[in-house]
Amino acid sequence: MDDRLFRNAMGKFATGVTVITTEHDKQEHGMTANAFMSVSLEPKLVVISIGEKARCLPKIKESGIFGVNILAEDQQDHSMVFAGQKKDEVVEVTFERLAGVPVLQGAIAQISCDVVSEYVEGDHTLFIGKVRDIKLDDSKEPLLFYAGKYRSLETITV
Ligand code: FAD
Ligand code: NAD
Repeated sequence: MDDRLFRNAMGKFATGVTVITTEHDKQEHGMTANAFMSVSLEPKLVVISIGEKARCLPKIKESGIFGVNILAEDQQDHSMVFAGQKKDEVVEVTFERLAGVPVLQGAIAQISCDVVSEYVEGDHTLFIGKVRDIKLDDSKEPLLFYAGKYRSLETITV
């Protein structure tokens, strides 16, 4: 099957956008990801899916921790920075700590997790994270991703 057909089909599933944060050698690292899902309420588990070539993959494996930062609509720049799409421009990013895990300032939800299991499936690794702590900011709307483009709730509803 053609890759483009697969990506176009998956792109029909409108999602939010997250930045997955972790650390290695006391240095924070972020990567944009929309493959994120809630898994279990008791215990509280989430899953992320990280490509085999991503530099953050060995960092999450070694540290055993990651943060999921659900981006606000004013954070498209952050999404592009952490997807490697804005290398030449300076975009200020500020990391904070939530229960000892690096998270991104300005996200509408910060979720800090411990890796409890990992599964290599095809060219991605699924990490199951047990939630340590959560911090919410209800004052902003989410950034959305649909059909390969960034959107906002406003552009969807009008
Ligand atoms: P790197 O190439 O190491 O880093 C990516 C960028 O983040 C670099 O430009 C780097 O400078 C910057 N960066 C990292 N840490 C810092 C820091 N501390 N301070 C400042 N800048 C920093 N890939 C997946 O595997 N799974 C997904 O679910 C997924 N979803 C995506 C959704 C969207 C909407 C987009 C646009 C991309 C998605 N990707 C996904 C692709 C992924 O974001 C890119 O392939 C990414 O560049 C690979 O990350 P990396 O760990 O190799 O990061
Ligand atoms: P796109 O048209 O490539 O993405 C549309 C959808 O296809 C995504 O939402 C995702 O569900 C799926 N997809 C894309 N690449 C994938 C991959 N390598 N593995 C599994 N699923 C994938 O959108 P775009 O704007 O061209 O994406 C920008 C870049 O980010 C591309 O290089 C793309 O491969 C990457 N990306 C990767 C993932 C992922 O690894 N899960 C998800 C989204 C985007």
